Amino acid sequence: MRIDILTLFPELCEAVLKESIVGRSRERGLVEINSLNIRDHTTDKHRRVDDTPYGGGTGMILQAQPIYDCFMALCEDSGKRPHLIYMSPQGKVLTQERIKALAAMDNIALLCGHYEGVDERILEEIVDEEVSIGDYVLTGGELPALVLADSITRMLPGVLASDEAFEQESHYSSLLEYPQYTRPYDWHGAEVPEVLLSGHHANIVQWRREQSLKRTQERRPEMLKTAELDKKDKEFLSKQERKD
Ligand code: SAM
Repeated sequence: MRIDILTLFPELCEAVLKESIVGRSRERGLVEINSLNIRDHTTDKHRRVDDTPYGGGTGMILQAQPIYDCFMALCEDSGKRPHLIYMSPQGKVLTQERIKALAAMDNIALLCGHYEGVDERILEEIVDEEVSIGDYVLTGGELPALVLADSITRMLPGVLASDEAFEQESHYSSLLEYPQYTRPYDWHGAEVPEVLLSGHHANIVQWRREQSLKRTQERRPEMLKTAELDKKDKEFLSKQERKD
């Protein structure tokens, strides 16, 4: 999979992308992620990429021309037109479900806005989708683009030790993950639940399932509406409800 990030701050993106699991996955060729500098494509002799808004108001707006030329150069370089996502607080809020679908694509590009945003005409002409990482506003699209690139990368084949690693995790199947423990057995007087030391695989699986259901019911009950629940799960949940 190839992900291209169109940004005014490629060094900021690289500082994150070269580290840890994403950095190693890039080195191993499991994912290609490039940070492209929009400013390299400006035709302004002072290398400007922004201007004041028509109609007045505070802040600066990123101009359409450098973004358009940056994207066209990318299309030419990759030999195809990537699915272009504009990171925007006005977009659809990102979910694990959407990340799963994006991870199945071969080629995506992420456009990072800055200042007061980008000229609307660029959105109309080349952007396929707008994605928000939550209902709050950041200074630029770089952190949201990195969130998206990170969450997609960890779903790609070979990145994590096994698919189970993310299949068991919070949100993958509309449930929150069960609590996890590691050594020592006794820490500050709190002991690890006995079942996890029993070596009885079926009991451990059942305990984890129940903990997942209980947590989701307590913290994010609305998620249970889309979770796949069998008869045993439903019985467990109604028993829990009666207890509360
Ligand atoms: N004036 C814009 C508005 O009210 O919709 C906000 C611009 S914001 C200060 C600058 C840039 O940060 C945006 O163009 C976008 O790329 C990025 N950004 C800010 N918050 C975001 C969020 N929650 N999700 C995704 N991108 C965001």
